[in-house]
Amino acid sequence: MSDSKIKAPRGTFDVLGEDAAARSALEARARAILEGAGYERIETPAMEATELFARGVGASTDIVRKEMFTFEDAAGRSLTLRPEGTAPVCRAYVEHGMHKRRQPVKLWYLSSFFRHERAQAGRYRQFWQVGAEALGSEDPAVDAESIVLLATLLAELQVREVRLRLASLGSTESRSEYRERLQAHLRANEQELSEDVRSRIEDNPLRAFDSDHPGTRAVMEGAPRLLDHLSAEDAEHFAEVRALLDVAGVSYEVDSTLVRGLDYYTRTVFEFTSDALGAQSGVGGGGRYDGLVEQLGGPPTPGMGWAAGIERIMLAGEAPPTAPAPVELFVAIEHARADVRRAAFSLLSEARSAGLAAQMDLGGRSLKGQLGQAGALGARFVAIVGDGQTTLRDMQGGGQTPIATGAVVHAVLRGHHAL
Ligand code: AMP
Repeated sequence: MSDSKIKAPRGTFDVLGEDAAARSALEARARAILEGAGYERIETPAMEATELFARGVGASTDIVRKEMFTFEDAAGRSLTLRPEGTAPVCRAYVEHGMHKRRQPVKLWYLSSFFRHERAQAGRYRQFWQVGAEALGSEDPAVDAESIVLLATLLAELQVREVRLRLASLGSTESRSEYRERLQAHLRANEQELSEDVRSRIEDNPLRAFDSDHPGTRAVMEGAPRLLDHLSAEDAEHFAEVRALLDVAGVSYEVDSTLVRGLDYYTRTVFEFTSDALGAQSGVGGGGRYDGLVEQLGGPPTPGMGWAAGIERIMLAGEAPPTAPAPVELFVAIEHARADVRRAAFSLLSEARSAGLAAQMDLGGRSLKGQLGQAGALGARFVAIVGDGQTTLRDMQGGGQTPIATGAVVHAVLRGHHAL
């Protein structure tokens, strides 16, 4: 054995055992909730043309500026491991002409994403998100439905101490007017701001609301708020989203400082956090992105969606109880002889074809060892294949009976009361 062991890359992890089972259970809950609401599963490739994120997510965002895993293929094309799911879903919507389908088109995914971040608890370089996107309708009911579905998922998974913050960023037009006001405020207080915020006054002034820098925070206390400068239409849209959430019994705080890290958002934005998590308290969030599809070369198409982090949900939630898959038949061999082993293997195949969950020993164990393993797996029946005869043992009742090998599957399917 070589003395230098190879480990998984920094910020990545293996999913094993109980963790894998808990994730499957989580996925099953997400599927039931989202498909029950008319969302269809979508899978997009793990890599995309870099241009998709540069154009879609925005060149001034942290993700595009410093967090993407980007590389060139052999032909010199720039590819990027997907850092988020909305731009790829919009790309697929355009590429497959989904605007011709009945709108809105509702899609959901559960996939892994890649960001070159400083790895810490709850923040990884490959992580999983469940996400839902509804394209083709600007009805505030789409916004409310989408938010309610995530609230339901978090509640069902018993994510603790959840808070929902909500705001509207207005449409692109009302926001550009506001941006100028905010830029004027930032320029007037430039000396107090962090280096990072100062460098983004031109291209991303809203991110100043996200800063932890004390000077910047003080300046932002007195900054004009986008919510006070919405157009009448945007304000009405936001009021309706709130009214629908009220009707659905979902509580939220309106937070005029909520801006999200991606450039594509318009109108509704929201974020679920959990106070049970440490510094990385974001569980999931999203919003409306009415200009994104067009920006990616498609027809003007409104859109609304969210993504939530699987690892954060699992950290802050109660893992749903998982039971190991039951083994209905364990096939054991009495002698380690090739003909007996083949007869046993044939019985195993026959049992699986009949739909039984069946296993046999693959580790060369003694008969005693095999019976021990069958017990550890919780096998319901064990067939001991011997030299010309087979015995079927009921592991619950404890009885056993000789049986023709060809009759085992039938007996197990009947639950074999005769033992
Ligand atoms: P975002 O796409 O940045 O809005 O992220 C949505 C959700 O994904 C967050 O609320 C987190 O739960 C999760 N998330 C984002 N980045 C990471 C990361 N690096 N590691 C683990 N989870 C993440």
